[in-house]
Amino acid sequence: MGLEDEFGDVIRKARTGTGLEMADVSAMTGIPERDLRSMEVYTRRPTPDEVTALAHALDLRAPALSALANEAIEVADGPWTVGDLTVHRVTTGYPSHCYVIVAPSGTCAIIDPGDDAIVDEVASYATSGRRHPVAILVTHGHHDHDGGVARLQRRLSVPVHVHEADTGNLTNLDTSVLRLHGDPGRRYGIEDLEWHALPTPGHTAGSTTWVFPSAGVGAAFCGDTMFAASAGNGRAGYTRHLTSLREAIGTLPPATVLYPGHGPATSVAAERRHNPFLRD
Ligand SMILES: [Zn+2]
Repeated sequence: MGLEDEFGDVIRKARTGTGLEMADVSAMTGIPERDLRSMEVYTRRPTPDEVTALAHALDLRAPALSALANEAIEVADGPWTVGDLTVHRVTTGYPSHCYVIVAPSGTCAIIDPGDDAIVDEVASYATSGRRHPVAILVTHGHHDHDGGVARLQRRLSVPVHVHEADTGNLTNLDTSVLRLHGDPGRRYGIEDLEWHALPTPGHTAGSTTWVFPSAGVGAAFCGDTMFAASAGNGRAGYTRHLTSLREAIGTLPPATVLYPGHGPATSVAAERRHNPFLRD
């Protein structure tokens, strides 16, 4: 699976997040506006000096930005076993990712059923063999992540865990099935499946990374907060989005496997090496 974002996406997200116009960045870097525009739409590859100037102007890491510009980043897209947990991915037509995480007993949770069209497949996976679902978790309140929640909830009759700020699309659910958390996040444990809500606001006000520790490692479902070598946009506050990337996800144990809402699976260690939004 290819990366979700290219060099052009990263510099556009950093520029708009910082509130800079193309002309501002041009003045800061000496790069003509037309060349910046071409870079943002992928039609011009930057020179090494331009990458350095852009990284400085946009508060991004130059080596990581350079690797992205040169398409030199390799991502594992896995693993699918973390400690004694297994992870199964189902992708919607958008495409966005829904995941099912399963403990040894078969206890499982579903993260981000983003479309009614995948509900049958997800429900049958989560209930076959020894598997039995105990919760639906939502990383954030955008349709490509919560569009199938109501239908799946009616199929499985399990609670829906979501940040109180991101329930806007879930008005068709009975409020008695909602398990809301605010800041700081909550801890949950059902049978042999344990997880907690790591608040990672910025993409939306209630963006949440759902963390499942297991045997000293862990699986983290980060929605659109972080992508492999990139990040979702920070429309609900770029500064706090950066804080979520650098101080929340970036400080999880390095072996933590990250399962984003779009693009390949990665790890905290890999992102510390090649994500331009993190710091050295
Ligand atoms: Zn998304």
